[in-house]
Amino acid sequence: MVSRVKILPENVAEKIAAGEVVERPASVVKELVENSIDAYAKKIFVFVKQGGFEEIRVVDDGIGMSDEEAKLAFHRHATSKIKSDEDLENITTLGFRGEALPSIAAISMVEMLTRPKDALIGTRVLIKGNKIKKIESAGCPSGTSISVRNIFFNTPARRKFLKDAHHEFGYIFGVMEKYALSRTGIHIKLVHNGRKLIDAPPADLQDRVAKLWGGDVAKNMVKIEHNGDVKLNGYVSKPFLTRKDKNRIIVFVNGRYVKNYELTQAIISGYGTLLFRDSYPYAVLMIDIPPEQVDVNVHPAKLLVKFRNKERIKKLIEKTIWNTLTSGDNIPRERIETNEEHILVSGKIKKEKQAVFEIEEGKKEKSLFDYISRARLPGYEIFGQFDDTYIIAKSTDAILIVDQHAAHERIRYERLLREIKEKKIQKLIDPFVINLGMSDYHVLLSISSHLREFGLIVDDFGDGTVVVRAIPPILKRSYIIEVIRGIIDIGPKYIERKKDDIIKLISCKGAIKAHEKLSVFEMEELLGQLLKCENPYTCPHGRPTIIQFRQEDLEKMFKRKE
Ligand code: ADP
Ligand code: MG
Repeated sequence: MVSRVKILPENVAEKIAAGEVVERPASVVKELVENSIDAYAKKIFVFVKQGGFEEIRVVDDGIGMSDEEAKLAFHRHATSKIKSDEDLENITTLGFRGEALPSIAAISMVEMLTRPKDALIGTRVLIKGNKIKKIESAGCPSGTSISVRNIFFNTPARRKFLKDAHHEFGYIFGVMEKYALSRTGIHIKLVHNGRKLIDAPPADLQDRVAKLWGGDVAKNMVKIEHNGDVKLNGYVSKPFLTRKDKNRIIVFVNGRYVKNYELTQAIISGYGTLLFRDSYPYAVLMIDIPPEQVDVNVHPAKLLVKFRNKERIKKLIEKTIWNTLTSGDNIPRERIETNEEHILVSGKIKKEKQAVFEIEEGKKEKSLFDYISRARLPGYEIFGQFDDTYIIAKSTDAILIVDQHAAHERIRYERLLREIKEKKIQKLIDPFVINLGMSDYHVLLSISSHLREFGLIVDDFGDGTVVVRAIPPILKRSYIIEVIRGIIDIGPKYIERKKDDIIKLISCKGAIKAHEKLSVFEMEELLGQLLKCENPYTCPHGRPTIIQFRQEDLEKMFKRKE
């Protein structure tokens, strides 16, 4: 009988193994940069074309490889970093499995140039689908340069699962952002299609935070430090500086970026009750722990780690953050709502000019009442405002209670929808410059073409800065930053699906708020305009705008009639 069980041909086994390490172009970047870090590089420059689909090139000035090492490096389980299983207990390098280079070579075309500092000549290796095509001596700078092209050329199924270049580049940016934060002594550069997106010479961590997340975020972070056998280092935001997701809570364990729900939660718990519900801090936390107390060998891409004593580390994080936040002047006396504008406006904006502009704009800016008829509302009478929030009125047969904020949101929402259809925009005489920090900057650039649809014209100004040239007429200048931030938070992945959320976002910024005093005339106009809406009874988020008590409702309530 022929045996059904067979050992797979080597090339198939290779592809399977490669799949574990190389999930997408960003995995290639991760592995190559980690090798450069392990090779003591002081400079790591990454050049990417088309989200990595066309090329990923990582150039370092590290220790390089001899020709013998260069050849061996592409064999599976070839590594210079550990020698025996005992070493597995004591890993201090990022790599150790000896899998990255063979896995990358199995699914792409690789060209490597490498030279140790003291060698006169370097080595050039060309590999395709894990077959060495060429190996020769070549002149090159000391260090290593690896270029990976045609990724997944021989695994079309894998390629099909990948998103477009923009999206894949987002992952690559995420990888590089983490190294820029954790390896502050290394000059890190990331270039995509010729555009420099990160250029970070050696600096301290707070400078790196400023570069990636913007100067105003960095300014509002406090230093975290604990020394013991377990060391904690990093920065966390003051309690009023928060965001709606946890994407900027970043944890490194022994220099390795890890995704760990419990550590993230420990950071959040460190804020106790200082955070609002559904708001999360910014944090970069480095945990340094004796290597034997942590197992990094639990995941092929090494994103997960296991601790010997997890509870103790969680407590330590919580306590250190709480103690830091509650000392000094880090807590505001009263909880204040995050004023994103204040936090995110960069020093680059010319304040005086902005003020002048607001006045000019103010003249042009039509008030609510320019859009509605000035005739009295036939059939309605306004009684007044309750709690400066609800408008009380009567119609011929009912008492009306109107939520002034919800009502104005509805009015603005329908107006914006109309104006988007009519392609109305308001050009800014004095364009609005925003310094976003590289992380948000690259997201914004990848979606800037979509923004025109909403009447926002945003151009690249280079180096983390964008310039807003036109806005929807309904939007006030003072809300531009909040709107841009909100759109960045939605991100490239969901922008197509969440158009309505963006329209709501734009229309709701600047609506009359609760607890705002209105004149009878203003109330009358608001109600009149609301009643002209196509759907006057709910705000764009689905809350009611008007509650009515008809005569018969009152009669029932007062038990005049059964
Ligand atoms: P690992 O990093 O787990 O050891 P890799 O397949 O990533 O395995 O790399 C294999 C070996 O190639 C490394 O152990 C190292 O000796 C060598 N190497 C890889 N990249 C570089 C580099 N940029 N500079 C110097 N040596 C390198
Ligand atoms: Mg490696």
